[in-house]
Amino acid sequence: MMAAWSDRVRGGHEEVAMPHIITEPCIGTKDQACVDVCPVECIYEADDQFYIHPEECIDCGACIPACPVDAIYTEEDVPAEWTSYIQKNYDLAGV
Ligand code: SF4
Ligand code: SF4
Repeated sequence: MMAAWSDRVRGGHEEVAMPHIITEPCIGTKDQACVDVCPVECIYEADDQFYIHPEECIDCGACIPACPVDAIYTEEDVPAEWTSYIQKNYDLAGV
C-alpha cells in the first residue's frame, strides 16, 4: 500500500488526499477528540492508540488542532522519530 501511494504521488494525481497519521503521543492519551471532529468517521480505536484509515481520510485537517498532544500529522509531515507510525496506521487499517 505504501508503494501504491508513492506511485500515485509520482503519477501527478494532485487531487489525491494526503492521509493523516496518528503517532506515539496518542498512546496513553486516547481521548477521542479527533474522532469527534472527523467528518467521515475514518478514525478507529486500536488496543494502544487510535489510527486513521488512509483510504478513507479526505485530508480535511480538522483532527490536527483537535488533538491535545499533537499526535496527528499529514503523512509527509510525520516527525522522523515517529515515521514507523505511518506503516502502523496502514497495518492497523488493513491496507
Ligand atoms: S484529516 Fe479530516 S478526514 Fe482525515 S482523519 Fe483527520 S478529520 Fe478525518
Ligand atoms: S485526539 Fe490525539 S490523543 Fe486523542 S485519540 Fe485522537 S490522536 Fe489520540
